[in-house]
Amino acid sequence: MEGALIARDRVGVQDFVLLDSHTSEAAFLNNLRKRYQENLIYTYIGTLLVSVNPYKELDIYTVTQMQLYRGVNFFELPPHLYAIADNAYRVMCSEYNNHFILISGESGAGKTEASKKILQYYAVTCPTTEQLQVVRDRLLLSNPVLEAFGNAKTLRNDNSSRFGKYMDIQFDFKGAPVGGHILSYLIEKSRVVHQNHGERNFHIFYQLLEGGEKDLLCWLGLERNPQKYAYLIQVSENLAISLFYVWNSCAIHNTPPFGGNCYPSAMFQGRCAKVFSINDKNDWKIVRKAFSIIDFTEKDLEHLFGIVASVLHLGNIQFEEDSNGHAIIRNGTQIKWISKVLSPLNVDLAFYARDAVAKAIYGRTFTWLVNKINGSLANKDSTRKTVIGLLDIYGFEVLDTNSFEQFCINYCNEKLQQLLIEMTLKAEQEEYEMEGIEWEPIPYFNNKIICDLVEQKHKGIISILDEECLRPGEATDLSFLEKLEEKVGDHAHFVTRKLADQKTRKSIDWVDFRLLHYAGEVTYCAVGECDRGAALEVLCNSKNGIIRDCFLLSELDSRRRPETVATQFKNSLMSLIEILMSKEPSYIRCIKPNENKEPGMFDDCLIRHQVKYLGLMEHLRVRRAGFAYRRKYEHFLQRYKSLCPATWPHWHGPAAEGVERLIKHIGYKPEEYKLGRTKIFIRFPKTLFATEDAFEI
Ligand code: ATP
Ligand code: MG
Repeated sequence: MEGALIARDRVGVQDFVLLDSHTSEAAFLNNLRKRYQENLIYTYIGTLLVSVNPYKELDIYTVTQMQLYRGVNFFELPPHLYAIADNAYRVMCSEYNNHFILISGESGAGKTEASKKILQYYAVTCPTTEQLQVVRDRLLLSNPVLEAFGNAKTLRNDNSSRFGKYMDIQFDFKGAPVGGHILSYLIEKSRVVHQNHGERNFHIFYQLLEGGEKDLLCWLGLERNPQKYAYLIQVSENLAISLFYVWNSCAIHNTPPFGGNCYPSAMFQGRCAKVFSINDKNDWKIVRKAFSIIDFTEKDLEHLFGIVASVLHLGNIQFEEDSNGHAIIRNGTQIKWISKVLSPLNVDLAFYARDAVAKAIYGRTFTWLVNKINGSLANKDSTRKTVIGLLDIYGFEVLDTNSFEQFCINYCNEKLQQLLIEMTLKAEQEEYEMEGIEWEPIPYFNNKIICDLVEQKHKGIISILDEECLRPGEATDLSFLEKLEEKVGDHAHFVTRKLADQKTRKSIDWVDFRLLHYAGEVTYCAVGECDRGAALEVLCNSKNGIIRDCFLLSELDSRRRPETVATQFKNSLMSLIEILMSKEPSYIRCIKPNENKEPGMFDDCLIRHQVKYLGLMEHLRVRRAGFAYRRKYEHFLQRYKSLCPATWPHWHGPAAEGVERLIKHIGYKPEEYKLGRTKIFIRFPKTLFATEDAFEI
């Protein structure tokens, strides 16, 4: 505990449950601010950890700190990621059950940093053998590889995860990490061919160009200067095409919300190869080293970098029109297959198909990469293992123009919010029940209604999208919106924009709908795209082993209709939720303190909004509703036994009886507490405060 009242005034309370005045938002923010200003970025709400991104290096992640938290009871030390990690680990070891740590918060709030720090904590503090060191190193080094291919600089975060990641760390019966498994979710493929102004493509492209050995670049036919590659920097006018009539799979591309020019940001790429906070050359070295430890062969790497390079080359292909209106390649004919595959199309379609191929290649290579890493993390011994899963998924996101990918990201955040609501409220209820304590339920906003709107069978947005995908050639942006209007138009969380002038309805301006998410309103632009197509056959027969693995000939069978991207994503989320529901949860809620990535700046308005939508106040109220605090008899007695002569220095009877003696001695009134089966429940924080203060004195 952080001590007496004076200190508490300065640094706030380390558990919001102990805020003694009331559970107002102002008091909550005040406490968070006080602590942030003292570099105390972590605060509990009961067992949930709230973290505010410090945007500066703090001296709280040293090996000494790690050892301090090892094996220590949760509330005995200041709040920390390590306490959460250690608690999950200890319960796993003693109860032999599976856990997960859900790290949530918006883009730039600090989720990935938190998950890496937890992994490091286990790597340092868990028992290991020389043999297992390899596993430990591979677990740690899977991060730089996946970040190189799956992270990018965005306006919100210089190292933004553009894929969702769930990683199981497997432990043997001695508690040693012996293996791992990663599930990845929907990488943002559109970034490969287009980035908003001020953003970059995936890190790997810049790392390869900046750090790649001369011979390697020469072999790949690459120049060091990123300015040479259209997908990295240059003006690209041909992204501005609408292909709504190609509906095999679906995604939605960029138009501004509610009007304006149709393709403002699609006209140019990110234009920011160099980023102050990123050292591509150095990162390349780390990635190369990681590859060797994760056991990639030279052949694998040859193929992998070959793919990265071919995506860049692909982006540089320009088309022009021949006399029949067909596209021909403007700059060179070496890449004959591209022309063969794409030339029956007109120029717009050829550009579109080029980009679709680049995206498909990159997306599938990413999946291949994850599988390959999984192969190297796999533990082949069949003895039973327990796991701690770390979930670091892309944060809720509202951009100027929100595409199909934002739709998926935000839907995913809805699902996780729903899981948290169910699991915390359920857990709370169950705890009171188990302990035989009466409980008054607390009202809260249940976002199930939004999840249903998106995913319900037949009536949900994804189902409607699927139906449209079954009508290639007939479906249009307009018909999709009309279907949405018809089926979900009167839903409280759904709005389409209706233009006053019905004549302009055919215009692309109409292609947006708005969802009122738990975390705020988002307008999505609804235009379809195809990422399959004629190039598939060529890719299936490629000489590059990775490409051949990624594009199977069986896909060419036209009788097999592939699931849409949206349905695949929905299904993968459903199974993720199932995986999580079977495990014991811990939660870390990350908060982004300001939009400028600046240390020490506490933007009240921005933080209030996050506190609101993360449901932190509700969480606190639920936590305080019946009893603000609960502690196992053994732990309570251990901490406060010195306050009562009967229990000090040793109490030899059952802990519950010792606690009863103790609280009688210090004068708890009957309305202030309840004794459950294994824990003492304290109703008011001030009661615990008084005890804590007596203890400090
Ligand atoms: P996204 O959803 O975009 O992936 P994120 O929540 O994963 O965002 P991070 O990449 O973890 O965000 O954090 C963004 C940046 O904030 C980091 O690159 C780092 O500079 C800083 N940061 C986050 N957490 C910490 C921390 N605990 N200490 C110091 N800096 C931090
Ligand atoms: Mg991240």
